[in-house]
Amino acid sequence: MDSISTRNALKSAWARARAEMDGLPGGRGLNIAHEAVDRHAQGAGGDRIAFRFLSRDGERREMSFRQLAVETSRFASALGDLGVEPGDRVFLLAGRIPELYVAALGALKARCVVCPLFSAFGPEPIRARMDPGSARVLVTTPALYRRKVRALREQLPALEHILLAGTEEEAAEAGAGADGVRSLTTLLAQADDRFRIQDTDPEDPALLHFTSGTTGAPKGALHVHEAVVAHHVTGRIALDLRPDDVFWCTADPGWVTGTSYGIVSPLTNGVTSVVDEREFDAERWYRTLEAEKVTVWYTAPTAVRMLMKSGRELPRRFDLSRLRFIASVGEPLNPEAVVWAQEVLGLPIHDNWWQTETGGIMIANVAGREIRPGSMGHPLPGVDAAVGRRENGGVTLIEAVDVEGELLLRKGWPSMFRSYVHQKERYLGCFAGDWYLTGDLVRRDADGYYWFVGRADDVIKSAGHLIGPFEVESALMEHPAVAEAAVIGKPDPMVGEIVKAFISLHPGHEASEDLRLEILGHARKRLGSVAAPKEIAFLDDLPRTKSGKTLRRLLKARELGTPEGDLSTLEEPT
Ligand code: AMP
Repeated sequence: MDSISTRNALKSAWARARAEMDGLPGGRGLNIAHEAVDRHAQGAGGDRIAFRFLSRDGERREMSFRQLAVETSRFASALGDLGVEPGDRVFLLAGRIPELYVAALGALKARCVVCPLFSAFGPEPIRARMDPGSARVLVTTPALYRRKVRALREQLPALEHILLAGTEEEAAEAGAGADGVRSLTTLLAQADDRFRIQDTDPEDPALLHFTSGTTGAPKGALHVHEAVVAHHVTGRIALDLRPDDVFWCTADPGWVTGTSYGIVSPLTNGVTSVVDEREFDAERWYRTLEAEKVTVWYTAPTAVRMLMKSGRELPRRFDLSRLRFIASVGEPLNPEAVVWAQEVLGLPIHDNWWQTETGGIMIANVAGREIRPGSMGHPLPGVDAAVGRRENGGVTLIEAVDVEGELLLRKGWPSMFRSYVHQKERYLGCFAGDWYLTGDLVRRDADGYYWFVGRADDVIKSAGHLIGPFEVESALMEHPAVAEAAVIGKPDPMVGEIVKAFISLHPGHEASEDLRLEILGHARKRLGSVAAPKEIAFLDDLPRTKSGKTLRRLLKARELGTPEGDLSTLEEPT
């Protein structure tokens, strides 16, 4: 097909998907929260369970679409009562508790921009996202506020309102009542539970997700209300969601999967979602699949590998017969995992591929199509993918099969990010002509299956979490003994990669076990458990290019014992 016919075919695929949306009554636009909540609440499906929250202490709380509509309207009204306006940024840092889900959807009703953060982040990643994200409101818990945010207040000048979930007493103990800190419970009790969503332009910003690059600060990828078209239809096609399903997406909303498919997509598809506040535990996960009668399960390769490690006997103790579709995302899924699942769970795992910037699944193994273990599957309808090579500021497509190149996507799908906040050049640099450059290396086989090869950059993927080396290096260099730091992803059989740091010390500091532990502790405190290095090695000097850039690539090659590549730009042999 020539590119005009391709473009027309893609357009009509998305136009068909768009026609499945309800739209705001009276033709007043498109709002994610209306499609996800009110549309169902107002119809025959209002009593259907939208969320089943499993709390940390084992309690189970169900919320119907109708209740969710009331709660989210209350939150939207509360934002209005505070003088918060459309377009203002509402950040969420709370773990997988009901208040986070209500706040996300309520803020979308109020046409604010929602930015969920991962609660395991330390203060530095939180600041590095809230500050450039111009957070005006933060919804969090008393404990997280005390531990991670209170000390940052002076560095977050735009932050006016901090709403603390939990009891009024807990909120008061953490400081509610002064400095813009309030009890969310008190605020909601006073707010109107009716709220009319105002006209929403489909291009109005809706969701902000930070992601990591090789250099510089984290990038805030901004998505618009129109994205809901892709959330909805890709949930149906790639995750096979149907109205009677019980769906469990194990991702935290702090990562894009936990928002697009942990909040929006199951709701628009009228499906019941299980939300488990606790972290991974093999036995509890199997028990949850059984007890909640989960039919569709969306998880991650690291979790699958941990289940594999827990043995084949364990799952046999549980009745998993309701499960009918399993999918995974975020990192390469080992072919053995697909085979293991088929043998042990009686179902294969459908790997799919996407990233923060794409907002929704782009390439997938869909139901009913042959799975080639190790492959990510085919592009979804409406997605035009290609393999290419960057050349002279543009891209050259590679037509031959089984040749490695960068994964390219023809731009224009509804959930494509619309900008990186405050980083216009960086955003523009992601495109060449009609193509969005994903930064991932892939190959395509003769039958059109895509196979992941690796990242084109130095970004680290650990347990499915994207970690920017620059952010980690900056935190390490705050330690008084550290002169230079370079961070790489070291392959790990369980979590894909672990963060390993190479450090050189300022004169007067000696490498020692005590210092290593001290720097590890410093990094953990600043960055949180997700991004902090697991290993540190001391070097006298770090290899760098003549222009002064640290050669992470060389450190990685040395770590792996692979060829060191072209060293002609190396400053001096080390
Ligand atoms: P994030 O933006 O945090 O969702 O991370 C996106 C990145 O995760 C992609 O660019 C890939 O490098 C990686 N990724 C996502 N899905 C897959 C997959 N199915 N196989 C291999 N890598 C994946």
